[in-house]
Amino acid sequence: MPLIEAAAPALTGLRRVVVTGSAGFIGSHLTKALLHTGVTVIGIDRRTMDSDPAAAANFAEFTGFPNFVPITADLLDCPMERLLLDADVVFHLAALPGVRPSWGPNFDAYVAANIQAVQRVMNAATRLKIPRVVLASSSSVYGPTDGSPSAETDRPRPASPYAITKLAAEQLCLAHTARPSSATSVVALRYFTVYGPRQRTDMLIHRALTAALYQTPLHLFGDDDQRRDFTYVADAVRATIRAATAPVTNTVINIGVGSNRSISDILAIAQQLTGRPVPVIRSKARAGDVPGTLADNSRAGGLLSWKPEVDLTTGTEQQLHHLRTHRDTHDPAMPVPGVSP
Ligand code: NAD
Repeated sequence: MPLIEAAAPALTGLRRVVVTGSAGFIGSHLTKALLHTGVTVIGIDRRTMDSDPAAAANFAEFTGFPNFVPITADLLDCPMERLLLDADVVFHLAALPGVRPSWGPNFDAYVAANIQAVQRVMNAATRLKIPRVVLASSSSVYGPTDGSPSAETDRPRPASPYAITKLAAEQLCLAHTARPSSATSVVALRYFTVYGPRQRTDMLIHRALTAALYQTPLHLFGDDDQRRDFTYVADAVRATIRAATAPVTNTVINIGVGSNRSISDILAIAQQLTGRPVPVIRSKARAGDVPGTLADNSRAGGLLSWKPEVDLTTGTEQQLHHLRTHRDTHDPAMPVPGVSP
């Protein structure tokens, strides 16, 4: 089964771009799509192939691209201006993701990765007069809603430390661009739950598929009616690349499908695609989880000429295919089906 990957739109006039978080899930898909356009990609991440199997699987995608320049560095203490020098665009995706782990002792790490790193990126980008920074933000900034689609003009009500750091990151970027001396414009993309091959192992679709494949329990929090607007990674990447050159300045844009599906739907799709039921253990909802997310994606349609192309079943099938064919590299801790757990 050929994988549906992001077909990168033309990047006229761009020679050199920086991707932070290039060893991550979305960052690695973005990096690969950019490399296919021929631009030089400086990929910065603090994870290394040697220390991290997920990063190794992501990096494996770039083997053979002579225009890829991998930099292992922490954005909190790297020589930022040197790394960003001559870049036409900075795609800033590096962050600590995840709502639940952002409660408790990890808060300082979230503030450092999601706010202090943004400050360092924006200081360097504005001093170097880099024309465009594309920031990865999150639908979590909306917090609990009444179930209607979230529009960028809605008042954000972030309900977790993670969501607060993402909203702070957006605002910090916009504050930098509002300085009279700034020649940098920012487009912040509020991604709605992104899924697809090499999805983070803490995320629902990955966990539902592996639970079905390996017949290990999936631990669910809250009720099965929780709904998410699931966005296939190649669609998110196309939007991200469009944001690099779109004639817009200093704005936030929702990147979501515009329809949402429940946890029950995901369990049913996982069962249908794997042919096995998903064993589930249920617990109470956790702080910061919202009942539903749903994007109003009309701004993305208007400003980026973007619309999602991959439906949930097709995208989940792609993710399953990748899991089946990359068991050894993607999640080596996971037992192989048919072998005792
Ligand atoms: P990921 O964890 O797979 O990737 C993030 C990468 O950033 C990691 O490889 C990590 O090592 C790197 N990183 C973090 N802090 C760093 C630092 N200080 N220096 C260098 N590298 C650092 O996460 P992802 O799911 O690919 O998410 C990418 C971005 O998209 C994040 O900003 C996240 O908040 C945002 N986002 C993701 C989703 C989603 O559904 N995956 C939804 C909304 C927003």
